[in-house]
Amino acid sequence: MIDFHCHVDLYPKARDVYAGAIERNIFTWLVTTSPKAFQATSHVLKKHESVLISPGLHPEIVADRFQELEMLLELIQNVAAVGEVGLDGSKRYSTSYAMQLRVFSEVVRKCHDVGGRAISIHSRQAVSDVLATLKAFPSHGIPILHWFTGTVTELRDASAQGCWFSIGPAAFNSAAGKALAFKLPKDRVVPESDGPFAQFVNRTVMPWDFNITVRLLGEAWSMSENDVKLQLVSNTKMLLEKMGCDRILSHF
Ligand SMILES: [Zn+2]
Repeated sequence: MIDFHCHVDLYPKARDVYAGAIERNIFTWLVTTSPKAFQATSHVLKKHESVLISPGLHPEIVADRFQELEMLLELIQNVAAVGEVGLDGSKRYSTSYAMQLRVFSEVVRKCHDVGGRAISIHSRQAVSDVLATLKAFPSHGIPILHWFTGTVTELRDASAQGCWFSIGPAAFNSAAGKALAFKLPKDRVVPESDGPFAQFVNRTVMPWDFNITVRLLGEAWSMSENDVKLQLVSNTKMLLEKMGCDRILSHF
């Protein structure tokens, strides 16, 4: 199994979920929501070569954690990947949007300055600002838009700008999500769970729910589950190679 975006540290029984992910997954990307959470998680969970833990600053908590921005910028220097970062343009977070823009552009600028990083990006109702920020700092690295919910035009723009897309079961909960999945560029899609935030059929999505994503993508793309699996594994290898994750790749 493979998971390009999950919050293992936020599950009620985080240590058990972590052990489960190590046992079942060939690759797990654990994105954190703040630099302090990154440090705590890196300290509490024992390092494992199949797991990538990255520092982030989630747009939903930027209002409370703005003062951790400097810490995040320092951490970016020494990590291969960054996330979860991004922008949330929904009404609920409108009061922090200016702050979110400041944080996200500083982060992307830093990634640009240090030669590029893989970045797991939240872009809910803010795709055009996310893309404009990425464009402003072109050497930012590899942007991976997680749980993309933009318009078809935004999807086309993001693809043209070289974005990757991580998608999980919860993206298929709505008709709009299913329609978007159909239009994703097949060679730039990787699986994610976004657990424990994501729900699917009345339960929390787990980091090893890869096969559910495979089945749903198979329906969206009219492909056999086996072909979807081959496609996702091939995409994963390509992306990990770009990310410089050679040690993880050696296990494929
Ligand atoms: Zn997330």
